[in-house]
Amino acid sequence: MSEGSPYLTEEHEVFRGAVRAFFKKEIVPYAAEWERRRHMPRSAWHAFAAEGLLGLNHPASAGGAEKDFFHSVVFLEELGRIGFGGVRFAVALHAYMGTSYLATNGSPALKERYLRPAVAGDLIAALAITEPQAGSDLAGLAATAVEDGDDLVIDGEKRFIVNGSFADFYVTAVRTGGPQVRSLQGDLSLVVVDRTAEGVQVLPNDSIAWRASGMADIGFRGVRVPKENMIGRRNSGFVQIMKNMQLERLAAGISAVGDAANTLDITWRHLKRRGMFGSTLSAKQAVRHTMADLLTEVEATRALAYHAAWSYARDPLSITACSMAKLKATEVARTVAEECRHLHGAEGFRDGADIVRIVHDAQAATVAAGASEVMRDIVVQSGYEEFH
Ligand SMILES: Cc1cc2nc3c(=O)[nH]c(=O)nc-3n(C[C@H](O)[C@H](O)[C@H](O)COP(=O)(O)OP(=O)(O)OC[C@H]3O[C@@H](n4cnc5c(N)ncnc54)[C@H](O)[C@@H]3O)c2cc1C
Repeated sequence: MSEGSPYLTEEHEVFRGAVRAFFKKEIVPYAAEWERRRHMPRSAWHAFAAEGLLGLNHPASAGGAEKDFFHSVVFLEELGRIGFGGVRFAVALHAYMGTSYLATNGSPALKERYLRPAVAGDLIAALAITEPQAGSDLAGLAATAVEDGDDLVIDGEKRFIVNGSFADFYVTAVRTGGPQVRSLQGDLSLVVVDRTAEGVQVLPNDSIAWRASGMADIGFRGVRVPKENMIGRRNSGFVQIMKNMQLERLAAGISAVGDAANTLDITWRHLKRRGMFGSTLSAKQAVRHTMADLLTEVEATRALAYHAAWSYARDPLSITACSMAKLKATEVARTVAEECRHLHGAEGFRDGADIVRIVHDAQAATVAAGASEVMRDIVVQSGYEEFH
């Protein structure tokens, strides 16, 4: 595959082989059980860490591998390919979303206390932004952190937090400027909160998607954290979120390409096994054309996602490219999942069937990390500025 690729070298393909072998041996055999339990055990996190997969681009000073970004592209694509959205997003959120704020803006002390152990798989990260009244529109965020002596006192509610039930710390968006200066850009900050801190309430969320990620709703009731737990400057949260969101969206897009490719693979295997009117379902021209169209869509989407990754590697603020990749790849993965469910017949509606989980997981990916409508708004705003 790397032959002639403008993006991938032989080294990347060797890495892909190692990642695939790791997933086959250490993750896929157990993932269905983790989905049932809505939990990924610590041993799994340590297994990822032992392969160096929790800090591929993180600095060596924090235990990271400082690889080029296409190692992450390969990893995320293969992570999507395992076909378990819960595992995919638990790990992607930890490695590319929660910890990326610490890597880019964390103080040396925060890096030592949280980032290094997170890269080693000893601590698990979550990112707590969404609230009951604020999802797509961050202007509605209401959680607060008020200074009191050497501490910040945090109050508020967070919703749909991946890794929420078993994470060790939450990178949490809070208002720090007081009501008189409340505005979207003005007074958001990011603070690290330990799950075990007094006043943190964790309520498991019975999501039908991404089950192994242990999604939870989190309450903060007068939670005290030292002021040093603030990531970056006070009131710099909005700028940090805007920067890190590009990586989050790109990671969602790249892993969706792998997810769609896996859905096609398992569906093709099903079609070849399924006897039908004297041959197999895979021999029917209508079915073959559907599969050809879906395969072409996935291949086109991979090209877009790789191009976005290339843009991101040159400029981490490639907003248009990252938003397009997230939009297109998660929508294609959803279409592929829904079409493939149809090709599974009644099996596509049996609770517990792989294809059912895949449909739910793919549908959720078009909402999480920014709904498709939000991506379209960004693409039309930033795209025309960038392209014309
Ligand atoms: C599986 C999953 C995991 C998640 N994990 C996390 C996490 O770890 N941390 C975290 O902080 N949050 C997380 N979220 C929350 C996620 O970020 C929000 O769901 C997302 O931002 C959308 O917000 P909302 O659900 O409040 O929907 P709303 O903002 O209420 O939007 C509802 C719907 O309105 C439509 N819509 C939105 N904006 C527009 C627009 N401008 N124009 C037209 N239509 C629009 C879209 O169809 C959207 O789905 C997760 C969500 C899911 C589904």
